[in-house]
Amino acid sequence: MTEPVPDLASPAGRPRHVAIIGGGLAGLAAAAALGSSGFQVTVLEARPFLGGRATSYPLSQADGQTLTIDNCQHILLRCCGNLLDFYRRLGVEGQIEFHKEFFWIEPGGRMSVMKRGLLPAPLHFTESFAGLHFLSGKDKLSIGRALLAVKSEFKNRRDLDRISMLTWLREKKQGPAAINRFWRQVLVSAINEELDQMAALHGLQVCWLGFLARSDSYQMGIPNVPLAELYSDDVWSRWPTVSIRSRASADSVQTDASFIRTVTASGQAIEADAFISAVPFERVANLFPDLRLDLSAFHHSPITGIHLWFDRPITELPHATLLDRTIQWMYNKRDGRHLQLVVSASRSLVDMQRGEVIDLAIRELAEFFPEVRNAQLERAHVVKEVRATFSAVPGLEEKRPLPSTAIPNLFLAGDWTRSGWPATMEGAVRSGYLAAEAITRAFGEPRRFLLPDIA
Ligand SMILES: Cc1cc2nc3c(=O)[nH]c(=O)nc-3n(C[C@H](O)[C@H](O)[C@H](O)COP(=O)(O)OP(=O)(O)OC[C@H]3O[C@@H](n4cnc5c(N)ncnc54)[C@H](O)[C@@H]3O)c2cc1C
Repeated sequence: MTEPVPDLASPAGRPRHVAIIGGGLAGLAAAAALGSSGFQVTVLEARPFLGGRATSYPLSQADGQTLTIDNCQHILLRCCGNLLDFYRRLGVEGQIEFHKEFFWIEPGGRMSVMKRGLLPAPLHFTESFAGLHFLSGKDKLSIGRALLAVKSEFKNRRDLDRISMLTWLREKKQGPAAINRFWRQVLVSAINEELDQMAALHGLQVCWLGFLARSDSYQMGIPNVPLAELYSDDVWSRWPTVSIRSRASADSVQTDASFIRTVTASGQAIEADAFISAVPFERVANLFPDLRLDLSAFHHSPITGIHLWFDRPITELPHATLLDRTIQWMYNKRDGRHLQLVVSASRSLVDMQRGEVIDLAIRELAEFFPEVRNAQLERAHVVKEVRATFSAVPGLEEKRPLPSTAIPNLFLAGDWTRSGWPATMEGAVRSGYLAAEAITRAFGEPRRFLLPDIA
């Protein structure tokens, strides 16, 4: 598809100005790319802090102190090349700690460890996979066969966006234990959707890039600072070309001869040569009524995070995935006493009262970590993100819009646009880089920012 090229003459001597609406990862990635390529950039962010859905905020404590917590644990895999590139541009890549072991725990506490062995990719998990306690030999063989099919089908099969992951797994004759204890456990957290609602394309992409293509691509990156510190004012103060305006909620744009000329944010009009919308899909129609995008196929999928503080250490593990229960992941935030639990595609929790969610979390946690039964819960905090991500249903991929729009100087970014990835931090950064590339093309100075996938 060819993109319309706006006739945007360069005002002599003045760097071109791009206004970016939305200071989540998509908007910030576009700002970093353009800000290092001769553009002057203004980021308008409605909230007082940056990072959008991947952020942290202060929580006041009983002793009057404040504690900064992430809205929800965010992890990345080493195959997230563009996200890592974005962190490098900001100079914060050293704040990501990579973990090389995955811990799987069954109710009752039996643990299995998955890690790289001696064989080269894609066979690097063979030894540890053979030793997993929670799968039968028959299930391991059938999962192994399906993983080999991922390798051959991911780039060659054309219908993967039209069928669900569950359909694909049934086609590959995966039994209930393989589906529930392996595929579901890995993919529901990665894509934030149930297997019967998730396009097989995304499931195969995660398996290929994250677990098969390279022997280190599965390593799990966890920021060792609160998320908002990765994109703090201090970080951006080193970018004279990027001006960040927080508490600046864009509420309208002013158009002239089919170009957008200004955006009004919190009562102030900001002029720019080009604009990037980096807001979630549900905000686009209000802000840009003239765009007339058909977003009727987009729906949300929720994620629930549960922070628990105990009076004693519950575990020494840094993290673990918990089998056969509602809670899917445990992250050890501090000393085994502050744990964060995560439930993806958490529709069953959305209508529950806060107290019910906490009771369920503690009940389930005690099945994996018996020390919970002896411990006192000092504090709990539940974050239900009902609009966590878009639901990556079959058929949606072709409906995700490209960065260029019918308005020649308006470009779209956001994890929901056609980034080539599902709704993740990597997807958001990719979309920001793609929008920035589209702007440089529109100004006749094409630049590449997007790094290719690792395989
Ligand atoms: C609970 C939870 C857990 C997650 N876990 C992971 C994970 O482990 N790994 C992973 O890779 N991804 C994870 N994700 C997904 C990831 O957070 C998102 O895909 C990504 O952050 C989206 O970035 P974005 O820039 O596209 O959108 P957003 O982060 O939503 O950014 C949009 C920004 O636009 C601002 N905005 C909206 N309207 C306006 C306006 N009118 N004017 C100005 N500003 C406006 C918003 O305040 C926001 O800051 C998780 C998401 C959630 C919610």
